[in-house]
Amino acid sequence: MKYQVTASRKRPKNFQSMVGQEFVATAISHSLDHQSLANAYLFTGPRGVGKTSSARILATCLNCLANEKPTITPCGTCANCIEIAAGSSVDVIEIDGASNTGVGDVRAIKDEILFPPTASRFKIYIIDEVHMLSSGAFNALLKTIEEPPVYVKFIFATTESHKIPATIKSRTQQFNFKLISIDLIKDRLQEALNEVNISYEEEALFWLAKEARGSMRDAYTLLDQAIAISQGKITLAELKEKMGFAGIDDLNQLVALALDQTMQDAILLLRDFIAKGISGEQIIQDLSAYFHAIMLIKHDITKESLLGFPLASFSQEVLAKLSLDQTKDLLTSLFALYKSAKFSINIQLELELFLSQIAAIQTKLYPSDLLAKLSALRINLTNPATSTTTLETSKPNPPPSKTEEISISAPETKTLSKASILAYLAEQFDISLTPKDLLIDEDIVQITLHQAVHYQTLSARQVEIQTYLANLDSTQAWQLSLIYDKINLIQSIFYGEQS
Ligand SMILES: [Zn+2]
Repeated sequence: MKYQVTASRKRPKNFQSMVGQEFVATAISHSLDHQSLANAYLFTGPRGVGKTSSARILATCLNCLANEKPTITPCGTCANCIEIAAGSSVDVIEIDGASNTGVGDVRAIKDEILFPPTASRFKIYIIDEVHMLSSGAFNALLKTIEEPPVYVKFIFATTESHKIPATIKSRTQQFNFKLISIDLIKDRLQEALNEVNISYEEEALFWLAKEARGSMRDAYTLLDQAIAISQGKITLAELKEKMGFAGIDDLNQLVALALDQTMQDAILLLRDFIAKGISGEQIIQDLSAYFHAIMLIKHDITKESLLGFPLASFSQEVLAKLSLDQTKDLLTSLFALYKSAKFSINIQLELELFLSQIAAIQTKLYPSDLLAKLSALRINLTNPATSTTTLETSKPNPPPSKTEEISISAPETKTLSKASILAYLAEQFDISLTPKDLLIDEDIVQITLHQAVHYQTLSARQVEIQTYLANLDSTQAWQLSLIYDKINLIQSIFYGEQS
């Protein structure tokens, strides 16, 4: 038996079998039931979600011969239904807006519509990619769609609804098509495979559904490729090998290596991906999906269809090492990389640069990290028994009066070396800092603590710190002021203003 392309085999014949566009189907069926037909319909939405199929279905609804008037359930077997589905009906004219964009083309339509349909109720013009029409063509069309002959209907489809003039839009009944969810796509792929008795692995199907990015048509195209390369059964391993993408295990490994600072291995692995035929753009997309999922996990979202991978497949090591802020930073960099990729001199080099950014991210200090460290410090201070941190400068540690605070901190900080301050901060904040890190991030530490300690006007982010400080007792406040003084001192060391 000849293999039929899945997208055409599974092309929906009526609104009931449309995937994921229930709203559109309901609205159209409502309008047909009440015989409140518009002169022109406008189908907008992303590519591959069923706009053109819906236009043909609507045409069969309008022209089905088995019913006396337009119906939501066309018979599918009359001459009109069959011809429209095959694209050969003389009364349903499909025009590609991309190649018929001029005023002359629209004039030709205006001449044609003077002649009534030959074998149907309506003469229907389906104009795909209608946003490509010139403004002159749109103007010429305007009058026609406002007052067409009673037997003429227009169905416009576009992926770029913002390019349609408002004057045209206001004269059409508009329907917005949505991207289709991974779950729905996966169900349909499963159905398509069951019909032709081809076996598959769940995760392979899941990957195909995810890669289709909301487009049913793309999903079917990918499925056909998968069937072509598979030997009897569609497996994830084979898709990975032959369709060129990085699987979750590859991504876990790559990111873990970079986080471990084993850059040589990370770069070798990256080159290995590229050697296997995975394009740089694909790697950027795969990494984006990966870090996006990690961001969702950090927000306690665990549903597989939202993450794109099963929760259990993510490396615990990577999850433990990355904070939400760090993940967001990496994701932002990937988006920028994706945008610039097409102009890149060497995309592999940019990806290697990104890997080193992953490696460096752990030494970056974020205000939220600082808050967490301060909270931890507070817990230690409140429970001295469990405390692991001790302040080298506060041996007797008496609850000091306000005047004592100033006199105690000033002379002692002066005796500290730069190295000991770094060691002290490392101990207090449990972060290993190098002088270079402090140069980069010292502003954050400085500003946060400065504003917090002095109760100056705070930004929204720092209100939290203020609340925290308001709850400190006098000993804790005094100890925090010591930290603050030391950070001040670091600033003076780096800015060369040592007094
Ligand atoms: Zn029919």
